[in-house]
Amino acid sequence: MLARGAVRRCPLCGGGHLFHHWFSMVERCPRCGLKLERIEGHWIGALGINTIVSFAVVLAAVVGAFVVTYGDESAWAAVAVIVVTAIVVPLAFYPVSKTLWSAIDLAMRPLEPDDDVDPRWIPASTRHER
Ligand SMILES: [Zn+2]
Repeated sequence: MLARGAVRRCPLCGGGHLFHHWFSMVERCPRCGLKLERIEGHWIGALGINTIVSFAVVLAAVVGAFVVTYGDESAWAAVAVIVVTAIVVPLAFYPVSKTLWSAIDLAMRPLEPDDDVDPRWIPASTRHER
């Protein structure tokens, strides 16, 4: 599930085409019907993941820029690299943070009958008898 989420695919079925464009996601997976925003406030987890990853990459950029430019009179190149990193990484990681969070959410909260997905994709271990 995490691997599927890490490559912007549906955590349940692995299907793609979950995004209209980079910042706009479909409501349900076109292949299995998984509702991607399963509960109100679902995307706060994606925001958290994006924040953690972005801070980690910016910290790495700060350390890397410091090491590379150590002793230089001017630090403008280091600052430019750090600023560009701080702007680009959260935007580039945005869709991955959403599918990755959906995978984590699905792992923590297995499918319920209310999720209303295509029955072929419901794992036998979580299938409810009706
Ligand atoms: Zn799916």
